Amino acid sequence: MKTDARIIPIASAPKAALPTGDDFAAPLQGELLDRRQRRVRDLRISVTDRCNFRCVYCMPKSVFDDNYNFLPRKQLLSFEEIVRIAKVFVELGVEKIRITGGEPLLRRHIENLIEQLARLPVELTLTTNGSLLAKKARALKDAGLNRVTVSLDGIDDAVFKRMNDVDYAVGDVLDGIAAASAVGLAPVKVNCVVKRGSNDDQVLPLARHFRHSGHILRFIEFMDVGSSNGWRMDEVLPSAEVVARISAEFPLAAIDANYPGEVAERWRYTDGGGEIGVISSVTQAFCSSCTRIRLSTEGQLYTCLFAQGGHDLRATMRKGGGDEALRRAIAAVWRGREDRYSEIRTAATALPGSARIEMSYIGG
Ligand code: SF4
Repeated sequence: MKTDARIIPIASAPKAALPTGDDFAAPLQGELLDRRQRRVRDLRISVTDRCNFRCVYCMPKSVFDDNYNFLPRKQLLSFEEIVRIAKVFVELGVEKIRITGGEPLLRRHIENLIEQLARLPVELTLTTNGSLLAKKARALKDAGLNRVTVSLDGIDDAVFKRMNDVDYAVGDVLDGIAAASAVGLAPVKVNCVVKRGSNDDQVLPLARHFRHSGHILRFIEFMDVGSSNGWRMDEVLPSAEVVARISAEFPLAAIDANYPGEVAERWRYTDGGGEIGVISSVTQAFCSSCTRIRLSTEGQLYTCLFAQGGHDLRATMRKGGGDEALRRAIAAVWRGREDRYSEIRTAATALPGSARIEMSYIGG
């Protein structure tokens, strides 16, 4: 199938002007809360829309083919622009910054950005497919990165290659995880997106592999992110079933969240084998405590993973807007936020073509 006309090419993703009304004018005092009284705590920064994998639930090859229009370099935010925006977010309450993509380790000199962001009083993490991690782990750690999350959708080579659709072997990703752990980017969180009928037979083999490793394995329900992954409800393996499958072999006990709004539900092996997590956006929505905001690689702000449009911060900066203008704009966007897509998801909202922004563009 050639590029589908329903898929919104990134370059023409809807860009809303920044709010100018009361939300913009309101004084920047006290805690910044959205319309559902949620604070802004987690900033996810996508530093590239490109990736060397074609994971079937994120960047299906049929859409992200050789003709796909990725963003030209000049449209990307520079590291200086990213750091400026990040500084303002920290002043407004952000405590955690996650670097994402596409595949962030494809962005040249990414260590330089990490070095600058590491000067901010935040927890600094990065999500990667692990393909370049073995080579880069030391430099990332030295630059000031705190932790990494690595995507791994199977431990069986054939299944993993089918999921990443570029014939990439498991071994290289496991080497990346080992390298990250060796330099102290630990505990490594290992994320597996579970698609029923594609890789759900990997749930137990992955659990067996990572028990007693010190790494935290998490299983993510297959989501209707973007508009191109052909999502269907019957391909979702509910987290409750994941927990039941593992618990049948290795008994599990629920443990408390590390902090309010933590995405993963935590479980520990009762025999001391470590911890796993499940992320259940489809069957157990967690929008009521969602403190996340996303910055795309070209400077668009998105208030939800399932957003259909963003707010253009790059224009404000490139037109000479100062930090006060940025602060007001960001505060206004957050104050006006009422997103709760996972709570209102229906068969109708999940239909392909509902113009949701691609996850590979705004980061997971
Ligand atoms: S669906 Fe949107 S609002 Fe809900 S948890 Fe996800 S990102 Fe947050």
